[in-house]
Amino acid sequence: MKIGILGGGQLSRMLALAGIPLGFGFHFYFPPYKHSLHALGTITNGAYDDFDKLSEFANSVDVITLENENIPLQTIEHLKTITPVYPDEKALAVSQDRLHEKRFFCELDVPTNRFLQVDSYNDAVNAVKEFGYPIILKTRREGYDGKGQYRINTQADLEKLNDDECRHMIAEEFVKFDREVSLIISRSQSGMVFYDICENSHKDGILNQTRNKPNDPIFALAKKHLMKIAQELDYIGTLTVEFFQTGDTLKANEMAPRVHNSGHWTIDAAITSQFTNHLRAITNLPLGSCASTTDALMLNILGMMPDRKALLTLDNACLHDYEKSPAPGRKLGHLTLLGDTPDQALLEIRSKYFI
Ligand code: AMP
Repeated sequence: MKIGILGGGQLSRMLALAGIPLGFGFHFYFPPYKHSLHALGTITNGAYDDFDKLSEFANSVDVITLENENIPLQTIEHLKTITPVYPDEKALAVSQDRLHEKRFFCELDVPTNRFLQVDSYNDAVNAVKEFGYPIILKTRREGYDGKGQYRINTQADLEKLNDDECRHMIAEEFVKFDREVSLIISRSQSGMVFYDICENSHKDGILNQTRNKPNDPIFALAKKHLMKIAQELDYIGTLTVEFFQTGDTLKANEMAPRVHNSGHWTIDAAITSQFTNHLRAITNLPLGSCASTTDALMLNILGMMPDRKALLTLDNACLHDYEKSPAPGRKLGHLTLLGDTPDQALLEIRSKYFI
C-alpha cells in the first residue's frame, strides 16, 4: 500500500520510519525545501496550488495524510476528489484559525481560556479591560512554537501597538496554570485509543520536554474532552489536544490534527507509537495498544545537534536525529530517556546540551 504525505519535515520522516515495517511505501509532496526524506520514498516538490501536480500525486497513492495543519483547504478538497485524505478539511478548518478553534471548544462545552477577537487597537484595549494584565495576543493563523505571540504586560506595552499589528488576532487571558498537559488519541473507523497523559514544559513558547504520566488523575477528564472533539469531527488518525491544568480543572489551549511533538516518547516507550497508530487508523487496520512500556522523559534538541557520543553515554537514551541543518530554536532531534535516570546524570546532560 502506498501512502501519500503532505509535508517534508520530521513528522513525515517519523511517519515513514514507522510505516516501513508495516510494508507501506511512501510518496511525499511539498514545496521545494531542504529535507531528509531521500531514503524513505518518492518525493514530489510542488506548490499546494499546483492542481495538476497534486492530481498526479493523488493518483500515485492509496491514501493521503499530512504533517502540518496549515495545508490550504482547497488542496485537501482537490486531493479528496481522487484519493481519501485523513484527517479531512473539517478538522483542518477548525485548527487553522485560533478563533474558530476556541469557538469550536466552546460549542462542545470543552473549557478553554477566555478569549476575544481582536482586529484593532481598541479591541486590544477592551481585552485588557476584560482580562486585566497580562494578556496574550496571538495571530489567528500560522502561529506555532510561540511564533506570532505577544505578551502585553503593561500599559506601556499596550500603547506600543497600532491598528495594523492588531489585525486578525485573538487576545487571551493569561492562565496561571499548575502544569501543561496534552492527550493524544488515535481514532479509526472502528475504534479509539488513548495514550497516557503527557506532561509538557515549554521555554519561549517551544516544547522542551515531555514526560508520560501513566495513571494520571486528570486522564479521565481529558479523555472526556477528546472524545467529544474527535466524535464531532468524525476524526480519523492521531489527534492531540494541549491543555492548561489548574487544580483539577483543564482548559483546552489548542489542538493539532496530526501526530505531535509531545508524543515522540511513544516511539520508544509505548507498545504502539503515535505514528504507527496514525498509519493504522488511516489505512483502517486494527489500532495497537497505547500502553506505556516504561516511564519516559523526552527532551527536544533545539538549535545545535550535540555530540552523539556524549548523549549516548546514558545507557537508557534513545536518540532521534532528524538530519536537519542547525538554526536557532530549530527542532533538530530528540532524546528519550527510558525508566529512571540518576538525578546527577540528568542534571549534567541537561546543563550541557538542553535548554
Ligand atoms: P501556543 O502556541 O498557544 O501553544 O502557546 C505556546 C505556549 O505559550 C504554551 O504552551 C504556554 O506555555 C504559553 N501560553 C500560550 N497561551 C497562554 C495563555 N493564555 N496563558 C498562559 N500561557 C500561555
